[in-house]
Amino acid sequence: MCMLLSCVHLIHQPLRRIQSWFVLPSRSFMDLKALVSSLNDFASLSLAESWDNVGLLVEPSPPHSVSTLFLTNDLTEEVMQEALQKKADLILSYHPPIFRALKRITWNTWKERLVIRALEHRVGIYSPHTAYDAIPHGVNNWLAKGLGACTTIPLRPSMAPSYPTEGTHHVEFSMGHTEHLETVISSIQKIPEISSLITVPARAEGEEQTRVSLNCTQKALLEVVALLSQNSLLYHKTEIMLLQKPLLPYTGMGRLCTLSEPVSLSDLVERIKSHLKLPHIRLALGMGKTLESQVKVAALCAGSGSSILQGVEADLYLTGEMSHHEVLDAVANGISVILCEHSNTERGFLSELQDMLTTYLENKINIIVSERDRDPLHVV
Ligand SMILES: [Zn+2]
Repeated sequence: MCMLLSCVHLIHQPLRRIQSWFVLPSRSFMDLKALVSSLNDFASLSLAESWDNVGLLVEPSPPHSVSTLFLTNDLTEEVMQEALQKKADLILSYHPPIFRALKRITWNTWKERLVIRALEHRVGIYSPHTAYDAIPHGVNNWLAKGLGACTTIPLRPSMAPSYPTEGTHHVEFSMGHTEHLETVISSIQKIPEISSLITVPARAEGEEQTRVSLNCTQKALLEVVALLSQNSLLYHKTEIMLLQKPLLPYTGMGRLCTLSEPVSLSDLVERIKSHLKLPHIRLALGMGKTLESQVKVAALCAGSGSSILQGVEADLYLTGEMSHHEVLDAVANGISVILCEHSNTERGFLSELQDMLTTYLENKINIIVSERDRDPLHVV
């Protein structure tokens, strides 16, 4: 009966409406604030380097709905033109198009023109940059896939964004003279930035004691230690522990990749070319190495990796760019170097990102990848 009713219902629809019902995709739109919140959940901006400029960089006046999210590695003026033609409502530019402070917004420089064009056409700009380098499912993870089967660990692991408890230090001490307990506790409570102050009855060496524990900041620690020193007869067995931020698994800058099976350098070059879809890459052979030398361990960093790769023991460094002298240093240490130009080691991630975000955002919006975004350098 239900089927019959729905058929009758369809028959009475105007033909044009029935067609659009079948043809139009189910995607709708998301409010910009909700979308930015989802993007921040997908990759926490707290994982970005402290020097970086990440997040929502350009915001049209609210409310702003996003139906089309446009992905690019670099937001050049040519790419902005493409984004406008494709009716983007938000541009996700991996590299932040605004990095240094802008003191004016005029038509004089291309970065300023990007802001003007974005706001005039009501297009937001969001940049995740090094947050995407750090996440387990991010740019470096994608680059490592080009090496073949391997286990990877971050070269510089990320730490959890906050301490597990308030404060940076944990202090514990015992007091045997309970008549002074109230005085000491009262003095401690007056120190700012003290938390989790707890007293517990304890017995040590046959004596009734009170075990006091607290958390505090570095600044408060100095005052706590000074107070305890003044009352040196009152306490003993003082312990001070640094509260470490826990390391996040599989998260951080660069990757150290141990291949399941060692592979010749020449074979690895072909794998990397295939993964990055490049006809040419640059290779510096490590001292004493040949194209037939076996590679077991490769250290990589998407983009400009020298600061992360420096001093790492490996058979190979893979990154976008390194200076002449940094390459000489690596080669002298017997480490071969493959350079692919900066953004060539990043851009291919956008296709994976498109699929991941489509699923993550439950297909609510249209997500497209720029076709004009490219590395400015070509081998001719
Ligand atoms: Zn980069």
